Amino acid sequence: MKQSLRIIDISLPIGEKMVIFPNNPPVKFKPLRTPTTYISEITFGSHTGTHIDVPRHISKKGIGVDKINLDQLIGPCRVLDMTHCKVSITTDDFRKEDIQKQERILVKTNNSLKGFKKFYPDYIYLDGDAAEFLASKKIVLFGIDSLSVKKQGSPDTRPHTELLKNNIVIIEGLDLSEVTPGQYDIFCLPLKLVGFDGAPARTILINST
Ligand SMILES: [Zn+2]
Repeated sequence: MKQSLRIIDISLPIGEKMVIFPNNPPVKFKPLRTPTTYISEITFGSHTGTHIDVPRHISKKGIGVDKINLDQLIGPCRVLDMTHCKVSITTDDFRKEDIQKQERILVKTNNSLKGFKKFYPDYIYLDGDAAEFLASKKIVLFGIDSLSVKKQGSPDTRPHTELLKNNIVIIEGLDLSEVTPGQYDIFCLPLKLVGFDGAPARTILINST
């Protein structure tokens, strides 16, 4: 069946050859048999591919994936064009976007244009001050097209902490290469992993025009 053009799948395919963030577990599939069917054993990290980060990621007391309010993950969303950013996305980049309370915000950067065949250590990330700015705006969802919202190895943990301690769900590992910045409806449905810090999430956009 031909897929409707209105639906854009912005999820990364999960497979053994996919790009994994350094020091995260690799994906492993082991085919198994029952007398009558094929089944598989799967091993992967909770932050594999397109996935959400939830408050448990930064605090033992934070809520896990299964307790996230799905209202935050489904509904109108805005994809912002951040392809001009060379290193990180800064507060100034957001100031001109008139960010509103309760918004779901995704950012399209050069990461999507480079593709996801290999890991680029110089990926575009969210600046710590910008994370504080987004938290002050009280958005409910922030998505980015890199496997981590923060710079690899950076001591500035605010891209995670400022968002998650304010119960803003983060989606990492989005593939926005086919997405024209603008207004959409997002549907992001993570696996219902009880008490987990993150979970892979099939994520789609529907063109609202
Ligand atoms: Zn993550």
